[in-house]
Amino acid sequence: MLTIDVTIVNVTELHVGGSVIDKMTSAMADNVVSKIYAPVYRGPSASCDGYVYEIVPVIPSSSIKGVLRTFLEDHVRMSSRSITLLEVLKKVIDVAERDLRDDEVAKDRVARDIVDRVLYRVLTQFLDESLAKHIYSIKSFSDLKAFIEAAAGTSIEGVAERLGLDRTGVGNYAAKVIVDTLKSFQLYKDVCYTVVEGLACELPLPLYKLVLLRAISEALNEEIEYPCRVCKYLGLPGYASRISITNAWPKNVDKAAILARTHIAIDRITGTVAQGKTFDVEYVAPGTEFEFFIVYRMHTKNLRTSLDEAKNRVKEFLDQDSQSRSEDSLREIGLHDYDIEILKVLKKFVNELKNGGIQIGGRKTWSYGIVKLWNTFKVCLFDLAELRPPREPTPREGEPKPLWELRRVFGCEDC
Ligand SMILES: [Zn+2]
Repeated sequence: MLTIDVTIVNVTELHVGGSVIDKMTSAMADNVVSKIYAPVYRGPSASCDGYVYEIVPVIPSSSIKGVLRTFLEDHVRMSSRSITLLEVLKKVIDVAERDLRDDEVAKDRVARDIVDRVLYRVLTQFLDESLAKHIYSIKSFSDLKAFIEAAAGTSIEGVAERLGLDRTGVGNYAAKVIVDTLKSFQLYKDVCYTVVEGLACELPLPLYKLVLLRAISEALNEEIEYPCRVCKYLGLPGYASRISITNAWPKNVDKAAILARTHIAIDRITGTVAQGKTFDVEYVAPGTEFEFFIVYRMHTKNLRTSLDEAKNRVKEFLDQDSQSRSEDSLREIGLHDYDIEILKVLKKFVNELKNGGIQIGGRKTWSYGIVKLWNTFKVCLFDLAELRPPREPTPREGEPKPLWELRRVFGCEDC
């Protein structure tokens, strides 16, 4: 088991969610911090166990995991083969006709699921919903087949007709966008597409996805791994992940100030301040230290060195300032390629944190949510079978109890 102890500091404001005005503010900034009621250490005079419940701002693990997922997806995509959605759809028709033979009910169900869970959701990323919904004119397998034939033949009129789009004006344009989308949208063999429900890994596997996977596999003439490589590392519902990220807790609650700023709503018609339309936005002031742990279930059984030596090599590999450690130095000590691949992504992640900082919580507003590595990170490698003595015996003033517990379990000797 490998743990990386990371402390980050926010360079820009982190917006706090969980209040009633969330809906108003979510349009302008992503709320990346949650407020949690948690025990904070205040010393023996405060209560019998020294803890007092207080409001603590927390960066949820999902926000950080989202960033890591993007890094991993980019990394895997670089070496993955891809194919256009249109090519896959053409193959879907062949696969369904061959494997489902004369089971018309199953074929129709596959066609409707592909329309609803794949095509509609892909199209709404490029087209207005009122135009994208015309895809629902496809109601059966034979409709789908005729539509794909028209799109593959690049018959804009044929596509417009199949979808019941007005062929004179906007409808024709919409049909062109639909054909262009199908021809340019890439599906990657080793990375699923989490934004589109029908293209994301899912267990148990529904019939239409099985047909889609077969279609991709046959179109590329290659076996497909399922779940995809990214989901194998980061998990999906029903499939345990090999990498876990903990919530990021403030090291000292007293230094994590939640501030509020009042915003004024402007009347869009008159351009003046709308009467009574003010709202507060809460945020964590820049400069707050948060600590979290990346936990990776790395195989340590086949190591040819001691855990300590392996730990040092991994740490030096992760740290870009140390040029001496290459991938080969990890292979030498018996690390599997599978582990090295993920270590490469983690290296990119920590170095990005160190150099440019990363933005958590989406990219709706560019200057919010930027966090950077604080000082350095710590690496710990231990055997799960070995029971480690608990570390961090004494909590510190202002330290949330959940962080103290994480440090006890995942913390490193050189803390
Ligand atoms: Zn996946």
